[in-house]
Amino acid sequence: MRQIPLPYFDERNEKIDTVIIHCVAHDIKGAIESFEKHQVSAHYIIDEKGHIYRLVDEQKRAWHAGVSFWQKRENLNHSSVGIELCTNSFGQNPYPFKQVSALIRLLKKLKHRYHIKKDRFLAHSDIAPTRKADPGKSFPWGYLSKHGFGVWYDFKNTKKLQETDETKLLSLIGYNTENLEAARVAFIRHFAGYTLCHRTINSLVDEPFNEEPHLPNKDYLKLLQSVAAHFI
Ligand SMILES: [Zn+2]
Repeated sequence: MRQIPLPYFDERNEKIDTVIIHCVAHDIKGAIESFEKHQVSAHYIIDEKGHIYRLVDEQKRAWHAGVSFWQKRENLNHSSVGIELCTNSFGQNPYPFKQVSALIRLLKKLKHRYHIKKDRFLAHSDIAPTRKADPGKSFPWGYLSKHGFGVWYDFKNTKKLQETDETKLLSLIGYNTENLEAARVAFIRHFAGYTLCHRTINSLVDEPFNEEPHLPNKDYLKLLQSVAAHFI
């Protein structure tokens, strides 16, 4: 594996139990320049050809998640490994197969090394829905879930769950629902990204949850219930 050591990390005081997936709208060189400019980092970055680069030792706390929340826990940098993906479209177009395959290889190692549970593979937009839109609507969560990374939905599951309150369902999954609209868009981006419009990189960066999903309310509720059913 290639190495590009970055100095943007500190000591890790918590056990690793989560992986956060990000994307950057740059190639490797541009991404490193951007990390240096903003003094941020991740543990790994994968280019569009599937080359993996290590930036920060997993045992250190890389600075990738920022202000974040999931399942009543804040500041996910403490307990997570952060992986960046290079994508010119900022996750609006499909990710190349070689890049996804490389990611899966890396995730298998991490899952094995730290016994990471299936439901702890998350998008940056899941844990920071008011601030972030990465890795974008085209990230293949359904495909990754088949390999054991991230939960997916099964409409048969909704029978187990009678709850119909949107806020309760989103927080059961793990979202911060203080801003309900942002949590809703993050959820739809993760589980029904195909219903979202194609947006420019600047608009995704400036207004990550300014979206009007084309998903009928009853379908949205069914989707929400079937994902939330994993967490009861
Ligand atoms: Zn990110």
